[in-house]
Parts: sequence; C-alpha cells; structure tokens
Amino acid sequence: MVVIGIDAGGTEIKAGLIQGSKIIESQRFPTQREAGAYHAQEQVLQAVETMHKNFPQAQAVGLVVPGVVDADAQIARYSENIGWKDVHFGKMIHDITGLPVGFGHDVRAGGIAESLYGASKGHANSLFMPIGTGIAGAMIIDGKLVDDPYAGEIGHLNVASAYGCNCGAHGCLETVATGPSIARIYNERSGQQFSGAQEVLKAAKGGDHIAQEVWADATRAIGTALMAYINILNPGLIVLGGGLSRAGDDLVNPLSSYIDSHLTFQPRPKICVAELGDSAGMIGAGILAAKAIA
Ligand SMILES: [Zn+2]
Repeated sequence: MVVIGIDAGGTEIKAGLIQGSKIIESQRFPTQREAGAYHAQEQVLQAVETMHKNFPQAQAVGLVVPGVVDADAQIARYSENIGWKDVHFGKMIHDITGLPVGFGHDVRAGGIAESLYGASKGHANSLFMPIGTGIAGAMIIDGKLVDDPYAGEIGHLNVASAYGCNCGAHGCLETVATGPSIARIYNERSGQQFSGAQEVLKAAKGGDHIAQEVWADATRAIGTALMAYINILNPGLIVLGGGLSRAGDDLVNPLSSYIDSHLTFQPRPKICVAELGDSAGMIGAGILAAKAIA
C-alpha cells in the first residue's frame, strides 16, 4: 500500500510517498507562517496537490499538524505556533484528491511511528518526546497511545524557570529547554546572536562557560520534567526526538546522570534518541493514511 504522508510544522512541510516505514520519495515545502495562518494553510494544500499530481499511484493521504487537533472530525482546532483556527483539513484534502484522508497530531503520530517501526517498538510503556520549537509527549501506556488533544503537554510542566511562557503561564519547561529558548537565554547572557541550540552546544563544547551553564540548565529542566513523568507513569523507555535530539550523547548523557541522581526506589527507564529522526511525523501521517483506506 503506497500513500502520501505530510507533516506540516511551523517552519516546513515534510511530504513523502510512503510504504509502511519506507520513504520512497520525499519533498519539503516552506510553511511561511510569517505570511499568516491562511497562507500557511494554503501552503499545506498546495503541498497536497503537488504530491497528488506527482504520485498518482498513492491510495490515500495522511496529514499531521501541531496544536490542538480534532482527529475524528479531521479539523485543526488551533495552533499557537502557526496561528490557524478550525481548519477543516480532512474535507479540503478529500476535495482536492478524492482519496481517503487520515488526519492527526504531529507528535502523537510520530509516537505511533516510533512504536511501530522505531526505538520504542515492542515497549508497552514508553514516552516519545520531541524537543524542537516546542516540547510535547506521545504517551504509550499498556501498548496504547493516549489520544487526547490536551494530554502530553510536558512542555508546560512547571520547572520553576525565571521566564514567562507563550501559553500565559510562568516557569514552563518550554521557556528554558526548546531550541529557540536555549539560544535566546544564551544570547541574553552573552550578547551574542546565535540562531539555535546547536550553536550553543558547539560553544559549550569549545569551553564557553555561559554556553555550558545554559545547556546544563536546559538538561536539568528536562530532567525535572521527566522525573515527574517517571514517578507518575513509570515508562520503561523514554525516546527523545526533534531538533534537540540531534545533540545525541550530549543530551542523553547529562539527562541520564540527572535522572540517575534523582531516582531512589524507582526503576530506571532507558533513555535514547528517536530512530526515525525528523521523519517520524511524516511516517506517522502515512500510518494514518493507510488506516483511512481500511
Ligand atoms: Zn507554558
């Protein structure tokens, strides 16, 4: 079964011709959210049209988006990141392609992909947590994904940071541990103009003390949030994804030490990075598309 899987994020739209976990062809399109939510929505539909034209053999289309998602009604309710509200993507895509449509949330679909084909395959209790411009978690409990539009908002756990969050609260994990937050805090303290967390990590490894502190603060904050998750749900496995997971051992090792030093009686979860990389959402969209055919 060959389907089109599309992962629409805040900066780009990843689209692929997908068969199971295999990406046969893929293409990226800019989201251009700075041009407004309506424009971003049109970019997604344009990507659907282009993929449908290029790959007429596809039997269904799957789309995953960030924010609050009504998967049953196939409506993107709200995205703070992109700005759209109540977009009826399912109907629009069906009107364009005439194909069955699968629709869902980017992180939860990525979690399904990792648990079927990636790092959490065979684990009944796991957490998939991408860290990018935001932080959210796909929670697999007893082999089932917790599929609630407001569940898994780990990025808004209070880690007692000194900063206000986009959500309106204060002290959220996202204020110190996303890629943009790490760069912002470093720039404030150093007077530099770094554009992302990878540059901060590079400076930290080069001996920059401010960068080392900012990176350590971020990993401590992630560790604090994960300890809360561990105490409540005892996941056997924590899979880190998103842009920040490209740091690999530089993220996993300090996080593992933090968790080791805070566990007392609890079993230690395994911590690793996602196997499907930043394609997890797109492959997850493919899984939803294949489900729409059945
Ligand atoms: Zn928040």
